[in-house]
Amino acid sequence: MNRTSPVQTQFLSVQDVATIVTQVGTADTLRRMADYIQADYMRWPDFDKCARVAAHSPEGVIELMPIADAKTYTFKYVNGHPKNTLAGLSTVMAFGVLADVDTGRPELLSELTLTTALRTAAMSAVAARTLARPNSKSMALIGNGAQSEFQALAFHHLLGIEDIRLFDTDPVATQKLVDNLQHTAIRLTVCTSIAQAVRGADIVTTVTADKTNATILTPDLLEPGMHINGVGGDCPGKTELHPDVLRGSAVFVQYEPQTRIEGDLQHLPADFAVTELWQVLVGQAAGRTSEAQVTLFDSVGFALEDYSALRYLRDVATELGLGQRVSLIPDLADPKDLFSLIRPSAQKLALAA
Ligand code: NAD
Repeated sequence: MNRTSPVQTQFLSVQDVATIVTQVGTADTLRRMADYIQADYMRWPDFDKCARVAAHSPEGVIELMPIADAKTYTFKYVNGHPKNTLAGLSTVMAFGVLADVDTGRPELLSELTLTTALRTAAMSAVAARTLARPNSKSMALIGNGAQSEFQALAFHHLLGIEDIRLFDTDPVATQKLVDNLQHTAIRLTVCTSIAQAVRGADIVTTVTADKTNATILTPDLLEPGMHINGVGGDCPGKTELHPDVLRGSAVFVQYEPQTRIEGDLQHLPADFAVTELWQVLVGQAAGRTSEAQVTLFDSVGFALEDYSALRYLRDVATELGLGQRVSLIPDLADPKDLFSLIRPSAQKLALAA
């Protein structure tokens, strides 16, 4: 394609998104993404929402995550395959589209693997700055894989977390995290057990990947005033928290119908009370009600964060002039003449004659 046309779609590759993050800076990217997410959560009723559509298989899941308001439609394709890393592939891989509701025209097609890590961390920070004790300074980070540095940086830059205690069953993953964050001001401590990492922490983030009902956190590890950011339990049969951890906490979720299916909440009866985070953000529901209360964000990843992330990427890519224009849909002189794309030209007909 050697001319730009109004029907072309903006395409952002993995490298384009990495360039955006490098140019904007990781801290500002996380801050701006968190602001986009919070702004969208605060207009929750504007969105047409549904739980994501999941295709389960023995090793993992492939999911479609659609959402729309009156102007903009987005979807994300994402997988979750915990054994992928053994085969040299990421556990989570994603891409997505932002489209114009009035015409259906896809405006943006983007990588969303790197973006998912950024938006998940930004979402965790939006929840934690609403629910955690404001003087929180330390965090336990259990699971030190692909998402973990982003979580650490979001809590450092957006909440002022200075000390992070690390644990992963794979010491190589923990060492990778330490190496990646060695130039930051975060004080990192490598721990030899979950209990050691969690003891005395203001915030506990669990971001492990295993296709099982794991018990990364048990109720005996809870301490008064903790905020738990449960990120890795996000699929039926793939959870991280003992059910009594939820029973001992005030539980907050993104979109209740989806979290009941996918979150750690799946182990609790349908009448177990939870609060959707947007209600706290707009002042319709209470967040933390005491210093000693344990708050828990049962994060599963909801389509609205991807809507916000795609909106952010579109805006910042336009600001920075990044990305390419690609022909994802036909550019037709006569929109009713789709056949013109394959109609033999007069020249070809003459040659064939
Ligand atoms: P990853 O495979 O790169 O890393 C997961 C890490 O967990 C690995 O290093 C593994 O060794 C460790 N681990 C597994 N079992 C453990 C245990 N019992 N104790 C301690 N560590 C353990 O995966 P990732 O991309 O970092 O994703 C982590 C999890 O987060 C996945 O389950 C993924 O589905 C989930 N996720 C959730 C959201 C969300 O929005 N809630 C978004 C993205 C990813």
